[in-house]
Amino acid sequence: MAAKKTAQGKLRARDTRSKQPAAHGMRSKQPATRDQKRALEIVRVLKRAYPGAKCSLDYSTPYQLLVSTILSAQCTDERVNKVTPALFRRFPDARAMAKADLEAIEQLVKTTGFYKSKALSLSESARAIAERHGGEVPRDLEALVKLRGVGRKTANVVLGNAFGKPEGVVVDTHVGRLSRRLGLTKQTDPVKVEHELAAIVPKKEWTMFSHLLIHHGRARCMARNPDCVGCEISELCPKIGVMLKTRPRKIAYDELKSEPWKGK
Ligand code: SF4
Repeated sequence: MAAKKTAQGKLRARDTRSKQPAAHGMRSKQPATRDQKRALEIVRVLKRAYPGAKCSLDYSTPYQLLVSTILSAQCTDERVNKVTPALFRRFPDARAMAKADLEAIEQLVKTTGFYKSKALSLSESARAIAERHGGEVPRDLEALVKLRGVGRKTANVVLGNAFGKPEGVVVDTHVGRLSRRLGLTKQTDPVKVEHELAAIVPKKEWTMFSHLLIHHGRARCMARNPDCVGCEISELCPKIGVMLKTRPRKIAYDELKSEPWKGK
């Protein structure tokens, strides 16, 4: 009887463990779940579709990536890339930016929108980096999010792309939208989306996963009228919340007379 109880106990323990979500990006001894396998397959197929997928902001140092990412809030990466060459020529690093006149920064970043607030973020974060971090961008999330204008998303962009050590998945509007359509999360809050994705995407793919979804969100899975017919991952996608337009093709008057649908 005692032996039986022990065996049942072991079984119950195993059942409970299997219902627990995988640890946040940690290696798990549990076999991969269906979503984990599907996420890996999505990464594999999208890597083939977008072999050059990478961060679309131009930068040559971690500090410059930090600046570009701050400027990219509510602005396209394309616009940011037009502004940063002149900005980096004048203020190439945190020490130079820390000494810069606020109005000079404002003028240089004006076309990225919300320029007063962005210029202030650049000025104050540069000062903090110069004074508290010896002029170098800190390499940990906790220190990064203490900088003005730097949230979790910006910090993860820098950690993943400049230092190759992401602490989370970067969730922007594309990543959030695609993850929900792909049925990888139901969450709408970016931090909750990030946590759920981190549990199903292997940590070594976190940075690339975001790049791939961003590329795919621009090329195929747009907010309106996603191209599900031409989509490379259509078979892996439940298309949650997508209203597929199956409007009948307009038939020209001449064509109508020949009744093409009847065949020959
Ligand atoms: S099948 Fe449609 S909804 Fe799914 S990823 Fe492709 S374009 Fe987006």
